[in-house]
Amino acid sequence: MSDKPEKLITDDGLRLDGRRADEIRPMKIEIGVLSRADGSCYLEWGRNKILVGVFGPREAHPRRSQRADTAVIRYKYNMASFSVEDRARPGPSRRSIEISKVSREAFEPVIMAELFPKTAIDIFVEVLQADAGTRTAAINASSVALADAGIPMKGLITSCAFGKIDGKIVLDLNKDEDNYGDADFPVAMTQDGEITLVQMDGHLTPEEIREGLELVKKGCKEILEIQQAVLRKKFETPMGELAEEA
Ligand code: ADP
Repeated sequence: MSDKPEKLITDDGLRLDGRRADEIRPMKIEIGVLSRADGSCYLEWGRNKILVGVFGPREAHPRRSQRADTAVIRYKYNMASFSVEDRARPGPSRRSIEISKVSREAFEPVIMAELFPKTAIDIFVEVLQADAGTRTAAINASSVALADAGIPMKGLITSCAFGKIDGKIVLDLNKDEDNYGDADFPVAMTQDGEITLVQMDGHLTPEEIREGLELVKKGCKEILEIQQAVLRKKFETPMGELAEEA
C-alpha cells in the first residue's frame, strides 16, 4: 500500500489523479466478450477491470430453488486472487456475500423476472483487478451484460459512489482516496433516478449526503450514456457487418 499522501486534494481542487471533485474515472466497456454466456461485458473503470457473464433465463437447479411465479435472480461477485495487491483469499467471504446480496437487490426492481417462472437468471462477476469501487463497476457491467443477454428490463441500472476526502465531497473514489479518505457512499439507480442501492462507510452529515447525491446523479448520467452507446452500437449494427467483424 502506498504511504498516506500529505493532501488528497489541492487547494485548486485537483485530486491526486488530476480529476476534479465531480469527475468520474475514465470508463471503457466491451460487450459480448464471452461466447458461452448469453450476455457478457468487460468493463474498465480507472484501474478496475471487471468481467461479467449472464446466463439464462434457464431452468433453475436445484429444483427446490425454483419459484412458480417468477425467475430467481442470482448474483455472484468474486474477486480473483490476483486482483488486489495482497493476494485475495479464494472463495466466498463475508464481503463478497454482502456485495452479491445488495447488488442482486439493486437489479430486482428492473428485471422482469415474472415473465420467466421456474427459471434462474445468473449473473457472474469476476473482478480481475481492483482499485476501489468494484461493486459499482460490477453493477454497471452487469447491467450491460443483462441487456446483451436480452433479459427484459424496465431500464438500465447505473452505479457510482461519492466520498469524502480531506473534508471535501467528491465523486468516484480511487484506491488511495478510499484508503485515506473519510467516507465512501456507493449508490445504484434506475434510468429514472430511483435509488436501488445505498451503502455508507464512514461518517457524513445530511448536508454532505445531499451534496454527494447530486454528484452521483451527474456521474450516473454520464455512465448511462456510455452504457447506452455501447448497446446502441451492438443492436444497431446490421447482422452482415457483425459477421464481417467476427
Ligand atoms: P469496493 O471495491 O466496492 O469499493 P470495498 O470498499 O470493500 O469495495 O473495497 C475497496 C477496495 O479495497 C477494493 O476495490 C480493493 O481494491 C480493496 N480490497 C477489497 N478486498 C480486499 C482484499 N481481500 N484484499 C486486498 N484488497 C482488498
